[in-house]
Amino acid sequence: MQAINLLNADDTNLGGGRIQRSSSLVEDVYEAIFAQLMSLKIAPGSRITVDSLVKEFNVSHTPIREALGRLEGEGLVLKTHLIGYRAAPQITKRRFDELYELRLLLEPHGAAKAAVLMDEVKLAELQKSAGVMARHEGKDERLRYSNFARQDAIFHDKVMGFANNELVRETLAHQHTHFHIFRLMFHSRVTEEALDEHEAILAAFAAADPAAAEQAMRRHIEHSRDRLLLAFD
Ligand SMILES: [Zn+2]
Repeated sequence: MQAINLLNADDTNLGGGRIQRSSSLVEDVYEAIFAQLMSLKIAPGSRITVDSLVKEFNVSHTPIREALGRLEGEGLVLKTHLIGYRAAPQITKRRFDELYELRLLLEPHGAAKAAVLMDEVKLAELQKSAGVMARHEGKDERLRYSNFARQDAIFHDKVMGFANNELVRETLAHQHTHFHIFRLMFHSRVTEEALDEHEAILAAFAAADPAAAEQAMRRHIEHSRDRLLLAFD
C-alpha cells in the first residue's frame, strides 16, 4: 500500500467504510500500473505477472486482477488464456500513420464545429480538461506524464463531443489513440509543447473562431505526429 500511495498524489480518501476503501485501492493499483505502462517502465509487449505486482504493491491478487481487467478494456493490456497478461505491443509505424491520418481528417473539422457551438459552460469545461491549469504542478514526472496522457484523451474527446457528431467521436475513442501514442516516447517535451498547443486551441474557442480553431487543432496534431515520429528512428 505504501508504494502506491507515494505514486498517487491525489489520494484523499483517508477514512471511509470497507467498500469505499477497497474501491479506492483498486483505483490506486490501477493508477500505479497505468503510470508504469505510459512511462514505459513496463515495456510494450512485455509480460506482466500478477505475483510480481502483488509483491511490488504489497496488496492481494484481487485488486491487481481488477486493475488489469480495466486496463485490458482500455487496450493497454492483453490477456491470453492460460498464459496470462502482457502489455499491449507498441503500435507499428503503419498504424501510427493511419491514426494520424484519421485524426487529421476528423479533429480539425470537429474543432471548427465546436467553435461555432461554443459557450461559456463548454469553454470552462474544456479549460479544465486541457491540462494547462495544472501544468506547473511539481509532481513525479512519471505520474505527470501518465496524467497528461489521460487528460489529453479527455480534452480531445470533449472537443469532439461538442462538435455534435457521436459517430465521429466514438470512432476516435475506440482507437484509444492517446494511450498508444503516449507510450511511444516518455519525454517531458511531449507534454510541454502539447500544452502550449492546447492553449492556442482554447484561445480560438474563447474567440469562438472556427477557422482559428480548425487551424490550431490541425497544427497541434501535426506537431504531435512530428514529435512522436522520432520514436521510429
Ligand atoms: Zn492534445
